[in-house]
Amino acid sequence: MKQVHLIPALEDNYIFCLQNGAEAVIVDPGDARPVLRFLQEQALTLSGILITHHHHDHIDGVPDLLSEFPAPVWIPAADQGRFEFGGTPLQEGDVLSLAGFQFQIWELPGHTLDHIAYIENSQKWIFSGDVLFGFGCGCLFEGTYEQAFTSLQRFRQLPPETKIYCTHEYTMANLKFLASLATTPLEEQKTKDLTKQMQTLLEQNGSTVPLHLKEQLEANPFLKTTSVPNFQTLRIKRNNF
Ligand SMILES: [Zn+2]
Repeated sequence: MKQVHLIPALEDNYIFCLQNGAEAVIVDPGDARPVLRFLQEQALTLSGILITHHHHDHIDGVPDLLSEFPAPVWIPAADQGRFEFGGTPLQEGDVLSLAGFQFQIWELPGHTLDHIAYIENSQKWIFSGDVLFGFGCGCLFEGTYEQAFTSLQRFRQLPPETKIYCTHEYTMANLKFLASLATTPLEEQKTKDLTKQMQTLLEQNGSTVPLHLKEQLEANPFLKTTSVPNFQTLRIKRNNF
């Protein structure tokens, strides 16, 4: 059976382990230790490492993982020079077959310029790093508002039942911001209900990830913005919140 395991790491990161039988594909290992422990416990072999962007909390575990398992690494083509451990560059439209999975590559600049996402169409999974979070989106460190807006809008092309594997657990903090945007009693109530629902999920599963695209399309204010200026205003508001 193909499944995704969440490996909590660092402060609030998730490293993803995609399992197919005894094979494992690891996404964004910011720390090698919890990954090595998990692979050992589950008796899995590392088939490959996927990187969404160059930030340290997504790549710092790669060298130690490679010294245990000499596995191939895939990286964004836009930024190959920044990865000391090398890797095979991927760009928009590429398709990668690995361990029985098939990943379609999207370039999603905004958070960083090199950011890519890995989409497993048959499973309806997207590994989208720091582009989109629960009811929020990633900060713009390198890209323009237009790039980030366009990258977020692309999620609309995916089937609504898609599961979004984002790298940080920011859902509750983002819901506080969402509550501050409510202008009617109905909106206030909706956000309250959503907060309660997510709190329960967090208590039961220890995580709100994967996110459900349908829910994000309905309630994530950054996905709901319809123009670059509106997106920009909202993002600045969030930065100052
Ligand atoms: Zn990042």
